[in-house]
Amino acid sequence: MKRQALVFPILLALAGCGDSRITPTPDPVAGPTGPQPPSLAPGASRCGAHPWCDTGLSPAARSDLLLAHLTRRQKIDLMAGDDPAGVATGSPATGTVNGIPALDLPPLYMSDGPVGPREGQATAFPSPLALAASFDTELAYRVGQTIGNEVRLKGNDLVHGPTVDVMRVPQAGRTFETYGEDPFLSAALAPFWIQGAQSQGVIANVKHFVLNHQEGQVGLPPIASVIGDRHLVDAQVDERTLRELYLPPFEAAVKQGGSGSVMCAYNSVNGQPACSNQYLLQQVLRDEWGFDGFVVSDYLLAVRGTADAALNGTDIEMPIGQFYAPVLLELNVISGQVPEAVIDTRVGNVLRTLFRFGFFDRAAFPSDENLIDQAAHAVVARENLERGIVLLENNGVLPIQANVKSIAVIGAVAQSYVNGGGSSNVTPYAFKPPLQALIDRAGTGVDVRYHDGSDVADAVVVAAAAELAIVFVRDTSTEGVDKYCLGLDCGPLPYLPASTPQDDLIRAVAAANPRTVVVMENSGPVLTPWRGAVAALLAAWYPGQEAGPAMARVLFGDVDASGRLPVSFMAAEADTPVAGNVLQYPGLGAGPVQYSETLFTGYRWHDKNNIAPAYPFGYGRSYTQFQYTGLSISRDEIRATVSNTGSRAGVAVPQLYIGFPEVSTGMPQPIRQLKGFQRLTLEPGQSAVARFPLDTRALAYWDVARSDWVVADGCYAISVGASSRDLPLTGSLAVGAGC
Ligand code: BGC
Repeated sequence: MKRQALVFPILLALAGCGDSRITPTPDPVAGPTGPQPPSLAPGASRCGAHPWCDTGLSPAARSDLLLAHLTRRQKIDLMAGDDPAGVATGSPATGTVNGIPALDLPPLYMSDGPVGPREGQATAFPSPLALAASFDTELAYRVGQTIGNEVRLKGNDLVHGPTVDVMRVPQAGRTFETYGEDPFLSAALAPFWIQGAQSQGVIANVKHFVLNHQEGQVGLPPIASVIGDRHLVDAQVDERTLRELYLPPFEAAVKQGGSGSVMCAYNSVNGQPACSNQYLLQQVLRDEWGFDGFVVSDYLLAVRGTADAALNGTDIEMPIGQFYAPVLLELNVISGQVPEAVIDTRVGNVLRTLFRFGFFDRAAFPSDENLIDQAAHAVVARENLERGIVLLENNGVLPIQANVKSIAVIGAVAQSYVNGGGSSNVTPYAFKPPLQALIDRAGTGVDVRYHDGSDVADAVVVAAAAELAIVFVRDTSTEGVDKYCLGLDCGPLPYLPASTPQDDLIRAVAAANPRTVVVMENSGPVLTPWRGAVAALLAAWYPGQEAGPAMARVLFGDVDASGRLPVSFMAAEADTPVAGNVLQYPGLGAGPVQYSETLFTGYRWHDKNNIAPAYPFGYGRSYTQFQYTGLSISRDEIRATVSNTGSRAGVAVPQLYIGFPEVSTGMPQPIRQLKGFQRLTLEPGQSAVARFPLDTRALAYWDVARSDWVVADGCYAISVGASSRDLPLTGSLAVGAGC
């Protein structure tokens, strides 16, 4: 059990059982569900003998009974966190809401986050973009399950994750923490992660609702920026863009995932702070989606008005009550600005959810590192990375063959733990660096030489002497500040240039050794101006603690290269929809940010404007080849046959894209949108039928005038293939009047 948090007067520092509505599809590579967490016996109830402790009653009835026993002040006390220091120290938790010992109400402990618990050491997962790159819902479940298990065994009741903000600005400081640029992919993965986490009895807290798309430029990471800061930005977005592009992952998290809580974001949306946004928190989240859980504010200054937030939907302010300081809330109630019934609603949302998750009817989760099965969790982290690494180029040099007898490993990154800064900055239990893993995997017969790359001329000598050179490079990204451009060396701080421009190092090594492989540990899309000069290129994202073993297995071909891009890689800085327009990004000073690109971000932008990406959304090479045949189209399901025509087993990720008919010129449609995917492991010569079920929403656009989803009559362009730019199978689907 955790020690109860102390109450500090001022925030000083910041630093870096749900119901089972979905069933994960087992991945043939992993077997049914992979490593299981330790047994999770509920332990004794800590509810006491109070009337609300009758487990035969519904959560709502129990919550009402408890509410009736609470004084106004006691209720108000439950509406804010009580520990300002935990967010920096991770002890006793990232956030704590004290309970009411006199009534046997225990404290509620909250932990970051989507990469693992940020409390002491933990299993450091790859960045969530690597999970997105797996296109693997079963894996998403298992990652959520494992992180949920670890969060629980560190004594927490809630996990601040997953992050499902759909990427708008590639250089945003938290791009690494998202599931990429596509709402369908994000919405497909999020419910599985949530169900996995909640299977451990912890409450998922899906974040950041909504449009936390930038951190701002030029600042003090991970806290604040000078231009376009996340706390001050007002995202000005039209309703259709919001509904079609940015809300679907949250909708899926709530409706399919059953997420017990939602974190409201720092930014404003159309003039209203997200944490007091009546449209978002009441109309959309509760009235339309039927959300029955509670809303937690992001940490510090997301709530910006006592009555505003209380009336419009924030249930708990974290990490302490600033606007929800008891004295302020009491004054607002006494003055009539916040009716006491609103306080009951807010606290009722929290209590009902806690009853639903069995919070009162079990012992406190023990905070006991010894119970964490680190070895099993490391396997999940390794598989996560193995399935997420994307092979972007390969002229045949990979997988590394047994006859290769000398390898030069270039770049200090081969020895470093690389991760994203801020609330996903997890301290690993054990970091396994790529260099050592490559030495181990290569075996004694292979001469592996290392150079840290700090002196390019010396590194070139080492690279030229080996049969194969592997260059490890990275970018730098953190919560609190955006990158200032898309190059590898463009970190969050323009005034601190990198000592060795990595692009130059890659060019020099590639010129000296035609068999040069580049491994990028990248936050998101980066520019790759030397890509035509290298023999192979991999995007490994921020790889987490299992960087070495996973990379070695992919590089040597022990597993197929099976990740696919969840983000488009630009050929040039100017190829993003927000390039060159400060009103779109980062906004002027603390002013509004205009989402004038509307639906056209990522591949939708490139398709519309005929821009060739360096590497398109959905793209990634395998070590084998696949052929696509036999497209079959019906209103309920699209099917295609995928065959492994190569000579080794491999993973295909067939993707379905649909182009909608334009019903009017005022309602432009993207040329294509992802509407289905599958991850198939196929033996050489094996074929499988990929099935993409279509529900009504798959063909619907948001009709602003009708304020509803509408399926237009017309001709829908159907295409299936290996990426958004490799679509060998095309056809059409007639709806109503038809084609
Ligand atoms: C982040 C959240 C995080 C919280 C607690 C905030 O700065 O935006 O995502 O959960 O800190 O660490």
